[in-house]
Amino acid sequence: MRFGIHALALVPAFDTDQALVAVETAAKVGYDVLELPLFDPGAADLRTLRKALERAGLGVTCSLGLRFDQDLSAAGEPGRAGETLLGEVVDAAGELGAELVGGVIFSAMGKYAAPATEADRDRAAAALGRLARRARPSGVRLALEVVNRYESNLVNTVGDALELIERIGEPNVVVHLDSYHMHIEEPDMVRPVLAAGERLGYVHVGESNRGHLGTGQVRLAELFSGLELGGYDGIVTFEAFTRSRVSPELMGALALWRDTFADPVELAERALATMRSLSGAAADAGRACPGRLGSPPPGTPDGQD
Ligand code: MN
Repeated sequence: MRFGIHALALVPAFDTDQALVAVETAAKVGYDVLELPLFDPGAADLRTLRKALERAGLGVTCSLGLRFDQDLSAAGEPGRAGETLLGEVVDAAGELGAELVGGVIFSAMGKYAAPATEADRDRAAAALGRLARRARPSGVRLALEVVNRYESNLVNTVGDALELIERIGEPNVVVHLDSYHMHIEEPDMVRPVLAAGERLGYVHVGESNRGHLGTGQVRLAELFSGLELGGYDGIVTFEAFTRSRVSPELMGALALWRDTFADPVELAERALATMRSLSGAAADAGRACPGRLGSPPPGTPDGQD
């Protein structure tokens, strides 16, 4: 398992200079991977960044959430704009040597007033199929982030993601789970990991208050037990956001109305120590008692609220 950190936990914006600070900080703290936000893939010099990432020995992932005027699941201009942007993002990810593009790349990232329709799902699946084929030569995978109901109407549970992936029908599309969203929508932290199985391609770890790991209500130990039980050996990336260190657009999209941390280096150090400790404990428990590790708590049947 490799540990990553989202660049916007470390720096307030994505441009060449800020991204280089994030590269340096992530490597210095001891992370293996840096996640770069590609809301605007032209905002930074990708060749400079790739060299810096390679020098620092960091792997790279990319992510974004689409705006409503880039809603891939929508008919007409928003759908076309979303596909155009994601095409540029996929190409940029290839130039960066990124392993995947994750996030809310199937719909807008925001609160909808109505549920997604079959036509919305079909449009998103068709476009993601074309994007997945575009991404394939560079080895970039598309990771569909399962997010809570206030941030999309299309993929809110692991079941939604698996259904959409089935509809897309391309091998380089994977499930992206995030503990912050799982905490809201899933029955527990283990079942979604096991349900995704081999299709689990990326994991975000975030606290219920979006701040320091361990200061909220997310059952982190249970998540790491689930990852151990499911045999997940990919990247686990820490995500945190605070009001005064993001753009106004992201503040609004993620409803960041208060500050949850002040010192990004301390934030990153504490999160990495927590993740290493929980991952180690889950592995130890798995070795000691493999049959019982991460058994889902009784009660809620699969796939029901
Ligand atoms: Mn996330």
